This record gives sequence, C-alpha cells and structure tokens, in this order.
Amino acid sequence: MTKVTTTFLEDNYSKIKETKISGRWITLKDIKPLFDDLHISINFNIAGKSEEDRDIYKLKFGSGERRILIWSQMHGNESTGTKAVFDFLNFIKLYPDSEIVKSVLDNCELIIVPLLNPDGAEVYTRVNSNNIDLNRDAVDLKAKESKVLRKILDGFNPDFCFNLHDQRTIFGVEGTNNPATISFLAPSEEETREITKGRKETMNVIVAMNSLLQQLIPNHIGRYTDEFYPTATGDNFQKLGHNTILIEAGHFPDDYEREIVRKYNFYALLQGIHHISIADNFKNHTSYLAIPNNIKNFYDVIYRSKNNEKDVAYQYAEKVENGKFALALTKEKEGNLSSYLAHKEFNKKQ
Ligand SMILES: [Zn+2]
Repeated sequence: MTKVTTTFLEDNYSKIKETKISGRWITLKDIKPLFDDLHISINFNIAGKSEEDRDIYKLKFGSGERRILIWSQMHGNESTGTKAVFDFLNFIKLYPDSEIVKSVLDNCELIIVPLLNPDGAEVYTRVNSNNIDLNRDAVDLKAKESKVLRKILDGFNPDFCFNLHDQRTIFGVEGTNNPATISFLAPSEEETREITKGRKETMNVIVAMNSLLQQLIPNHIGRYTDEFYPTATGDNFQKLGHNTILIEAGHFPDDYEREIVRKYNFYALLQGIHHISIADNFKNHTSYLAIPNNIKNFYDVIYRSKNNEKDVAYQYAEKVENGKFALALTKEKEGNLSSYLAHKEFNKKQ
C-alpha cells in the first residue's frame, strides 16, 4: 500500500471506522474514552480550557519535518470532521507498517485538536458559551478557545493546517443537480484575493484530495468563494504563512446523520496528509480553479405545485431535545421555486 487508493479504502472502511462515535451530536464525553485507545506513538494532553472549564485536548505524533495542524469542531455543532479525525487515527493504529503511515509518521509531525469548542458541542451550538463564533475571532482572540488554538499555532509553526467544518444542506455544486457533499477552500490573505505562493500550496493539497474524491463521488465536490473574511481563522492563518485547507462536510442523499460524508471526509483528510508527506513540491495548483463553485440552491424538502406557482420549501432545523439530536421540518419559503432543488421533492395534487 504505497498510495491511497479508493479500492483499498472502500474494501476496508468498515474496519477502519471508529464506531464508538456516530451521528451529529458529538461531545467531549463521547471522544474522551477514545484517547486511551490510540496508537502507541500518539501522545495526548490537555492544551487548555474552554470558557466553561472543559478540557481542550491536543494529540501529537510523527517525527518528520513537515508540520501539520488539524482542528475540528471549532463550531460546536459541526462534528463530521471530528468523526473523520478518529477514523484517521484508527487507520494509523491498524496499518502502522504500511508505506502510507510510515511516510506520514517519518516525514510529518502532526498536532490534532479534535474538539476545539467543547462548550458549544455540549449544547449543540455553533458558537462558544459566550456566544462567540470562533471562526470570526482570529484577530480579537476574545474567546479562551481561540487563544488555545493560537498558542498551539505560534508554538508549533505548522506548514499546513486543516480546518474542519460542516456546511448546511442548502449548498449544491454549480452546473450539476448534486448537493455539495464535500467542499474545499484555499482562503484569501487579503481583499484582492491574490493567489500567493502559500495559497498555491494550499490549492495543491486540495487538488490531490479532490482527485481522489472525484473517483467516488464525481461532481459532488464544490469550491467555496474566496472572498476575504478579515476576522476568519483560515484567512488569518494563511496570511500568517500557515497554509490552511478548509474542508466543509456537506450533504449526501439521505445522509442526515452524516455517516456517509464522514467517510469521504476521512478519505480526503488521509489523502491530503499523505500527499503532504510525499510531495516533492506543492506547485501544481491550477486544477483547483476548475472545481465548480458552491452555490446556495437546495432546500431539504420542496412540495411542487402545478406550474410551480405555489411551491413550498422546508428546511430541517437541527436541535438537541431531551438528550437526543432531532430534526424538525420548518417552512422556509413559498412561491415559484423552480430555480431551486430539494433533497426530497413531492408533487402536490392541485
Ligand atoms: Zn463551521
């Protein structure tokens, strides 16, 4: 096994998957027991505390020169990246003697923060307990969680970062009728969105991940707008010289638990990390620009009317209720919705 192949992954994923965590609501209590079961070479410790004094863990391993920093769930209700990270950690444990794992551990040093916002995760919110969006706090660093991540960044000085998020089900891939199952972004460093040397390197890693995923879920992969967000984490880290890859896990048909997209998120992560471990250079970036745009063109459900005159669209609102994750269908829009798609469509009789 010298390179990541779709055949190997598809044949073995059921073995690799960390089955102790699943579904949408993943909290610190869910991931803590997993730390005791990691590959022997992986060290873990508490990197800092959240606003409500929950532990923020940091895993460290590998002895190479290329430094990679990965964090997930900076938005507390976006757990797919966390599940993908533990699938990746299982892969290392299962195949320590494979060329892939040896290459990663010999050529890279990795730090993973698998749940940056444990308070938000606990109550299934995007923000932290002070209502701060950590992904808009990279300049002010008001939140304790943002300070923890910045301290790791400054101390570790990574060459590459993976910033793992979930996107809503409203996104599709431009030019197709498909939802955006996985989307990528190589963030801008300033308002002119110049394609700097660093951004080209970020794009190069995305190209490697995209080409693997296209074999399995062709035309389900989108590219986010590179509009500059001055206070966003990725934009600021990229500007500081740490190439930052944004991965947004999205919708796959009928996969509201995000257990299918979790698999593709893991494949992308593994491919990206392996690529960083073996690449001679990170120059080839142009096919990044050919990945279609992410567009907002989906609802969860549309009831179609005759001539589309009185279509009705619904979205699932996500919440945690009585200790369980739940979806509640909520009316969003009425009128002619012929320019929109839905994950489920029904025809009204009238
Ligand atoms: Zn997010």
